[in-house]
Amino acid sequence: MKVTFPHMGNICIAAKIFFDGLGIEYIIPPINNKTALELGTACSPEEICLPFKIMMGNYLQSIEAGADTILLVGSCGPCRFGEYCELQMNILKKMGYDVKFIVMDCPNGIGNKELMRRINSLVSGSTKNKGEKTIAALRALKATNLIDKIEEKAHYLAGYEVNKGECKKILNTCKRDVFETNDPVRAIRLLKEYKKKIDSVKIDKSKNPLKVAVIGEIYTVIDPFSNLNIEEKLMDYGVCSKRKLTPSWWVKDAAMKVLNANSVDLRLASKEYLPYYIGGHARECIGEAVMAHRSKLDGAIQIFPMGCMPEIISKAILPSISKDKDFPIMSLVVDEMTGEGGYITRIEAFLDLLERRKGKNVLYGC
Ligand code: SF4
Repeated sequence: MKVTFPHMGNICIAAKIFFDGLGIEYIIPPINNKTALELGTACSPEEICLPFKIMMGNYLQSIEAGADTILLVGSCGPCRFGEYCELQMNILKKMGYDVKFIVMDCPNGIGNKELMRRINSLVSGSTKNKGEKTIAALRALKATNLIDKIEEKAHYLAGYEVNKGECKKILNTCKRDVFETNDPVRAIRLLKEYKKKIDSVKIDKSKNPLKVAVIGEIYTVIDPFSNLNIEEKLMDYGVCSKRKLTPSWWVKDAAMKVLNANSVDLRLASKEYLPYYIGGHARECIGEAVMAHRSKLDGAIQIFPMGCMPEIISKAILPSISKDKDFPIMSLVVDEMTGEGGYITRIEAFLDLLERRKGKNVLYGC
């Protein structure tokens, strides 16, 4: 069995640590890029959302490299994500590929027994004992938490750093170094070292940088290729950015869903504007916008793929939040046709607006 999985931000780091720990062969598709998108777009339904197309590209590149099993997380609906696996299986089958899908759905959708069966089928190729398998899973979880913390801090401290570009450099070298090792123990040690490094970045507290929340559809906010590297651009501009949706947040949220105690803060914050679950992370997006205003951030940027049903609803609600709270929110829609020039111009214009509201007169991109 040679397992592969679609990219979604830093998930590949945790997955690599997990499979290295289990001693299972795996293939990581090339980091999301234009080729993956083109390959995926060519075989996907035209109207389907961007993550589907990139994932298809990931699969095709991995299958080409020898993968025969695809690991995917599911959602049991109600947005298109719930149907991703069925549709992807059919497309690959029609294309003549014989691959096995292992879909990790939430236990309240498929039941604990079925979830255990799927986990067992995934780890059946490992010769490790139960204890070693558990350690491999725990290390992967730890890695997810650590890399998300490092990333969160780097994105925020970039607005305060004394040595311009230091946070970005630490974050990028951390990802590269951890990705390069096949030793899970060393990977965790590296992550801890980089956590210390980012914690000790020299900052200037007298700075008063812009603070922006990045909200929206989970895949596009997490995946730098899909959002045209927006967080790195914000770091370059010296803007602090905050994002609540991360792989570690997703794991916690899925685990707490069983007890109906997931993301209580976001659900409460969204109650006034969107009290119902409508699929995807629309409710979280609304909650995040409200919380960003409460935390006194300067504005929020919503990102979502063209045709994303839940986020179209959020987009329709966000102007009310913006008006009621006098809080600027900009929506960016991405798809395979998105041009970087227009995208950057919109971000810079939004930042200029935020600066003017702050009484400053900095022009971004000049
Ligand atoms: S949340 Fe939006 S982009 Fe993601 S699968 Fe659902 S419809 Fe597609």
